[in-house]
Amino acid sequence: MTSSVRSAHPARTVLVSGASIAGPALALWLHRYGFVPTVVEKAPALRTGGYKVDLRGDAIGICARMGILDEVRARSTDMAGGSYVDSRGRTIGELPAEVFGGREEGDDEIMRGDLAGILYERTRADVEYLFGDSIASLAEDADGVTVTFDSGTVRRFDLVVGADGLHSHTRRLVFGEERRFKRYLGAYISIFTAPNHLGLKRWETYHALPGKLVCVYSSSGETSAKNLFVFRSPQELPYSHRDVTAQKRLLGEAFAGDGWEIPRLMGHAETADDFYLDSISLIEMDRWSRGRVVLLGDAAHCASPASGQGTGLALAGAYVLAGELAAAGGDHRVAFEEYERVMRPGVEQNQRMAEGFVKEMTADTRWKIALRMFMVRTLPKTPWKNLIAKKIREDIQKAANAVPLKEYGTYEAHAAAAPGARRLAS
Ligand SMILES: Cc1cc2nc3c(=O)[nH]c(=O)nc-3n(C[C@H](O)[C@H](O)[C@H](O)COP(=O)(O)OP(=O)(O)OC[C@H]3O[C@@H](n4cnc5c(N)ncnc54)[C@H](O)[C@@H]3O)c2cc1C
Repeated sequence: MTSSVRSAHPARTVLVSGASIAGPALALWLHRYGFVPTVVEKAPALRTGGYKVDLRGDAIGICARMGILDEVRARSTDMAGGSYVDSRGRTIGELPAEVFGGREEGDDEIMRGDLAGILYERTRADVEYLFGDSIASLAEDADGVTVTFDSGTVRRFDLVVGADGLHSHTRRLVFGEERRFKRYLGAYISIFTAPNHLGLKRWETYHALPGKLVCVYSSSGETSAKNLFVFRSPQELPYSHRDVTAQKRLLGEAFAGDGWEIPRLMGHAETADDFYLDSISLIEMDRWSRGRVVLLGDAAHCASPASGQGTGLALAGAYVLAGELAAAGGDHRVAFEEYERVMRPGVEQNQRMAEGFVKEMTADTRWKIALRMFMVRTLPKTPWKNLIAKKIREDIQKAANAVPLKEYGTYEAHAAAAPGARRLAS
């Protein structure tokens, strides 16, 4: 639905559900353009935990435009590289971090919780955050949306943005059940924090098994280690998202009898208090908006951890959505249409890449793993190593720069269209 008629009542107040990456990034831009964002997060406080996430291409440009790039660099994981080991812990080969991460110069990597913290700190003085609450119901009419929160509070907003992740509650309320949009890619991912008993320093150690991959890493400044497990499962596993004990049992079953450090890591899983397990899935939707409600980040188009691009897409989406709202003078019909037009090709490119990566990460035969280990062993010694590394990076870099970043004009120009804008302290 394209509209050439500007909305009679341009949007100003925006409720954003979810305070991880997409939500606070959107709030930063909306405030900068003169909108009045409120962010509601169901967790009682900012969730600081997480895993390392790549920031490449577009994501770095957007961090620079947000004025947070120096802080991001200061919290870089600063990984030096990684190695593959066999079942007895012997090193098969080592590769520098750029090759592992498919990174070009200037790209970086940060813990998800650190990035969320930077965005939150940058916006908290200017943006209303409601922690420990969630949207219970939404009722839209011609002029806005009446939102009832779990806490019982009822408020009016011009627009509502669901930035509440893969299992988006906003999506369920407005578009329907998750299973209509989720496409399982045939594997699970688990991650948790444990003592750094391997003594890793800015280093990741991988161990590959048929249909499975284990990675233990410790980044700059960390005293503990993150233990990451990926395993194939032809069928989706039956478990509740709230039942962590059942999830730990499923992980234990998937890696039962495996060698290297795995039995010890399974012991750490038992006591981990940040244990995470989820399917590797995409969210695919024909539309990301309905009326005055729009989805952003993983809620709209999860590309899965396998893409290594979910954070970048969340940042790009926030930049584009806020920019289009500002450019349309708050007319959500025009802005939502354009947001999808700009974002969708890049999103689809990243989702296709994820499908390939899941299979690559979990090579399903000993022969495929042996071939991979041969590459890992010989790559650093070949005279063409830089060329090969460049080739590996090429697809990742194309995907990381797949969203065309328009210039949405100066703050002053938008301020004229949306009076009341104040520049965020930078
Ligand atoms: C193990 C792992 C590794 C990853 N590695 C990478 C990587 O290398 N590179 C990369 O770019 N991406 C990576 N990702 C993906 C990346 O973390 C996500 O794509 C990114 O965090 C998406 O941000 P988001 O803000 O859209 O959603 P999320 O980060 O999922 O945040 C959603 C927020 O909404 C909140 N919420 C949920 N329900 C409600 C509700 N009802 N009401 C209010 N709030 C709610 C949640 O508490 C959360 O704070 C990885 C993900 C995982 C799991």
